[in-house]
Formats: sequence, structure tokens, C-alpha cells
Amino acid sequence: MGVESKYIWFDGELVPFDEARVHVLCHSLHYGMGAFEGIRSYTQPDGSAGVWRLDEHLERLFDSLKMLCMDIDFTEKEIKRACLETLTANDFTEAYIRPLVFFGVGEMGLGARSNPVHVVIATWQWGAYLGDEGLRSGVSVKTSSFTRHHPNAALQRAKIIGHYVNSILARYEANEDGFDEAIMLDMHGFVAEGTGENVFIAKGDKIKTPPVANILPGITRRSIIEILEREGHQVQETWFGRDGFYVADEAWMVGTAAEVTPIREVDRRLVGKGKPGPLTRRLQELYSAAVRGNLDYMKQYITSPTLVE
Ligand SMILES: *Cc1c(COP(=O)(O)O)cnc(C)c1O
Repeated sequence: MGVESKYIWFDGELVPFDEARVHVLCHSLHYGMGAFEGIRSYTQPDGSAGVWRLDEHLERLFDSLKMLCMDIDFTEKEIKRACLETLTANDFTEAYIRPLVFFGVGEMGLGARSNPVHVVIATWQWGAYLGDEGLRSGVSVKTSSFTRHHPNAALQRAKIIGHYVNSILARYEANEDGFDEAIMLDMHGFVAEGTGENVFIAKGDKIKTPPVANILPGITRRSIIEILEREGHQVQETWFGRDGFYVADEAWMVGTAAEVTPIREVDRRLVGKGKPGPLTRRLQELYSAAVRGNLDYMKQYITSPTLVE
């Protein structure tokens, strides 16, 4: 499946897919200044679209922009409406929604502040980010030789375009070495996260996930912690090394794109029996139910395009 759709929202208007273009001297193309979000909508029980935790994603987008000192000409409410409008215009119910904010053409150089700030919202149909087989049987991961950004070299809470070179290098390395995905350690050598997913491990009745320090604080991570707590589990937000994976009974990664993807092996060591465990399976089921409007206590997280003024 490709990234095609009928329309892309560009600075306030829906334009046909092929006309959503930028100039080669667009500042962000050169230096990576800008921020984005990754959001998903799912088909709800009545067949309509429902966007999962849209408000939280937009809050994070606006926080990212604040951290970058980038101002846009639209309010959070306007961007919310625009996301829904784009989805509806493209007749999608299950789709990925990608708002992106970037500097356009004007000054060059790192001190540029006056360039126009553009906002686009694209939607496309995206299946399982780490493959259907990954969702079913789990993925193999490798501890990356690339360290996750030092917190004093990057703004970890922001989804900033330029930061992703670090993730891409880790992902390439893992794929070239025959693994599906990479796990990145922080500057102290503790597990941080995947290249675009947060991670969890479970051993006995203990469940751990790295704290919000050297990770992107994922919205899926938050949903999964809430589901686990509702199921009577406690989640420790704490540091652990790569050996945490080596001796875990279960491990999984979470993100808007990856949803709940089991981790089957880490650095050529099987996690548990090398198959998705019962807790991971249960989380996959509950998360899938939640986003599709079938989990009562999470229905409030779904936005219907038809119900927004
Ligand atoms: C987007 C992202 C995640 C997952 O965040 P969600 O809000 O759950 O989609 C995790 N890590 C990184 C580095 C990311 O970019």
C-alpha cells in the first residue's frame, strides 16, 4: 500500500495529491527543523471513522512546536478540524494521519527565523508497520550500536523531523544485519526505546517500561499502561539494561504505527519461548478493541469526524 490519497491539506486548503509540492530550497529539507505527528483512525462498530486520541496527539504537536519556537497560523482546534476534514475528504475510515509542520523558502542558514511556517496533513492507508507476520509471530530486534540522543542534544519529548536520522541509521543497521527492528540504549546504556516505538518487558508478575526521560513519551505507551492497570497489573516505569530483555518472559513494542508488536527475539536470544506470550496477546486484543470502539472505558478517546463543530 502506498501513500496515495485524493487530497492533502496544505496551509488551510485541501489540494489534490499531486499538487501538494514544495520548493527545493525549503529550509526544513536542508536542516530538519520541524515537527510531525503520527495518528491513526479506525473503523468503528457503526462503520464510521474514529480517530484515536486525537487531542493528545495535537497537544504533543503543539508542545513540539513550542519547544522549537515555531509559530503556526492555526489553533489546535483548527488543526483538529483539518485532520478530520482530510480524512473525510479521502473517504478513509482506517488510515494513518500525518500532520507535518516545516519551514518554507526564505532565508537560508541556521539562524533563519522569518521563513514561512507551513502545515500539511496527509492521510494514507498503512497496514502493520512491522509487517503482518511481525504482529502475528513477533519481531526480531537488535540492540543498536547507535545511542539514542543525549537529552542535552535533543528534545526528547518532541517529534522533531531532524531527530529521525538517528532512528533511521539504527533501523538500517538492524535490517542489514537481518533483524526487523532496533532497540536503542540511552547514554548510560539503559534501554530507551525502538526507533519509533516504546518498549515493555514482563517477567513473572513484574512489568517494566523505561521512564519518560530519554524516550519519546508515546501515547500508545500511555494507553497500554492504562489497560494493564485496568487488568490489575502494576507497571514499573524504571530503567533496565539489554539483559532485561534476555531474561524476560515477554516483551513487546508499542506505537501508533506499530500498535502492539510482540518481540520474539533480542540479539539472537529468544524472549521467553520465542513466541508472543499470553499477556502480549491479551494486550493486542484489548488495544485492537479499544481503538475500534469496543472497550468501554476508552471510548472517550475516540473522535468521530461527524461530531466535531
Ligand atoms: C512516535 C514515536 C513513538 C510512539 O509514540 P506514539 O505516540 O505511541 O505513536 C515512540 N518512539 C519514537 C521515537 C517515536 O517517534
